[in-house]
Amino acid sequence: MQIGCHGLVWTGEYDPAGIRHAVASTAAAGFDLVEFPLMDPATFDATTARAALDEHGVAASGSLGLAPETDISSGDPQAAHAGEELLLRAVDALAEMGARHLCGIVYSAMQKYMQPATPEGVATSQQVIGRVADHAAAAGIQLSLEVTNRYESNVLNTARQAREFAAAVARGNVRVHLDSYHMNIEETDMVTPVLETAGELGYVHIGESHRGYLGTGNVDFDGLFRALHHIGYDGPVVFESFSSAVVSPSLTRTLGIWRNLWEDGADLGAHANRFIRDRVHANATIAHH
Ligand code: MN
Repeated sequence: MQIGCHGLVWTGEYDPAGIRHAVASTAAAGFDLVEFPLMDPATFDATTARAALDEHGVAASGSLGLAPETDISSGDPQAAHAGEELLLRAVDALAEMGARHLCGIVYSAMQKYMQPATPEGVATSQQVIGRVADHAAAAGIQLSLEVTNRYESNVLNTARQAREFAAAVARGNVRVHLDSYHMNIEETDMVTPVLETAGELGYVHIGESHRGYLGTGNVDFDGLFRALHHIGYDGPVVFESFSSAVVSPSLTRTLGIWRNLWEDGADLGAHANRFIRDRVHANATIAHH
């Protein structure tokens, strides 16, 4: 199991200096992996990232949310084509870094929709995801579909919907990505979706109900980590947190980060690393019961 941290804990600027800072900070906080925001994969300097990752002994993954102009679920052929190109470039950037995971809202735009998804739009999204997954498989990369709350997509809001979507795509490297922040809004609890997704779960985000310090909100982390242990989950577990203290032009406004929940990313990250590892460690001792 790799314990990781989303890059927005460290910086909102992903130029070469920002990439190096994010990797060094990830290592200093004790994490195994940094998740790079790949909103604009064409300009992401994967060569610089690879060198920094090797220097610090840190693994990488990548995540993104599509935009309206790259929305593969929109029913607009031009947007679907642009989205497919963007996803293929994200896979190429990750392959150059030796990364194994692309995740996030890769199946629709990351936005509040004002109408439900259409069957035609979802079918197009599934076809595009299938082709991107084939490209990713050639590079040994897994594509995980992040289940998100209703204000950030109209396609996948529950684990069950993601399982159905993945079954329709029918590629071995297309998996389900659960995030405790979104689960806390949409699911029945933190346990049932994990148990029902056993065998299909490929990526996990750990976020508090307000996206600040773990343990200061409403999320039932004891239940979540017990469920992950129960299904033998062994994939990445990645801390995600956002504050107006660190601003990304492409992410912060879309996610509605209006409040300053923390100032010190280094303290936040080190705390999250301990919080996650303590729970994983404690659950491993259940074998002795
Ligand atoms: Mn997430």
